[in-house]
Order: sequence, then C-alpha cells, then structure tokens
Amino acid sequence: MIKGYSDLVLESRGCDPGSMGFKARFKFNTDISSLFPYINAVAEKPLYFDKPHYIKFTFNEFHYALYPDNGFLALVENRAHAIEAIEKLIEFLNDIYSRKDSIKPDHKKFKHIPALDIYKLLSKSNCKKCGFQTCMSFAAALGKGEASLDKCPDLCNLKGENVIKLRSMLFE
Ligand code: SF4
Repeated sequence: MIKGYSDLVLESRGCDPGSMGFKARFKFNTDISSLFPYINAVAEKPLYFDKPHYIKFTFNEFHYALYPDNGFLALVENRAHAIEAIEKLIEFLNDIYSRKDSIKPDHKKFKHIPALDIYKLLSKSNCKKCGFQTCMSFAAALGKGEASLDKCPDLCNLKGENVIKLRSMLFE
C-alpha cells in the first residue's frame, strides 16, 4: 500500500503556448512498479513503457506519468490543487492494490516507433479526419504515444496486413 509521498515541487511549463498551469513532481514512499500492469489494465488512456520503466495515463482529467518511486502530473493551478490531485491518485492506486486479485494485469508495453515506419503503413491521403494536417504528422504523434490509432477512420480502408503491422508495431 502507498502511505504517502514527499518532495512535491511545482514546475513552470515555461513558454509552452497556451499553458495556464504547472507540472507537479513528487516522490512515493515506496516502489509502486508492481502496480503498473494493473494500472495498465484499468486506467484511462494508459501507455506502459519498458525503458525507462513508467506508465502514463489520465485520471480525474489530470495526465500522470508514474515511475517506480516518483511521479508527475499536469496541469495544476497551484500547490493546494496538486496536493488534492495526488491524494486522490493515491486513493486510486490503493484501490487498485486492494483489488489486485480480481484484476487481470495487462503487460502490453508501448514502443516508440520512427514516424516514417508508421507513415509507410497509413493511407497517405492526408484527409485530416484524425485532427492532424497530414498522415506524417499523425504518424509522428502515434510514434510518441501522443495519438491513438483509432483516430484514423481510414484504417478500415487499409490492407488488413497493414493494420496488423501497425498494431504490433505500437503494442507488444
Ligand atoms: S485520418 Fe488517417 S488518412 Fe486521414 S490524415 Fe489522418 S492518418 Fe491520414
């Protein structure tokens, strides 16, 4: 169980355009890495990485990146806002911990892939339906884990083998 955290620091997002908040960094009082496959199974929009070993996900509208003994969240308005969010996160993690026996762990890891390797398998129609201006920019975002493959409606027009390759490239 996670009993607490320490070393909370708020970091300015600097010149990030449109940014109105802070990123918060903190340390756990225990190694939480054994929970990662369970978080991967139940969290919203999880991305689980091998090297470095960490997991990203969304919870209560915050974006989290958790490493074995520390974590980041964005965006928070101030220190009190960060404390409230971290306390809710710890409740969430402890709930997962208490339900571990009833959750099937998901060990699938996300892999960073060069944009060109992904682009080659897309339709290259640049239809913009995914919200990106070009298939190449969508491929770049996919390769960094910043977009979801199902946002491209043209997937259903691709050869089945391309879709299988895309899925196996992005998830192991
Ligand atoms: S929706 Fe698919 S085909 Fe259209 S631009 Fe995006 S990636 Fe390319």
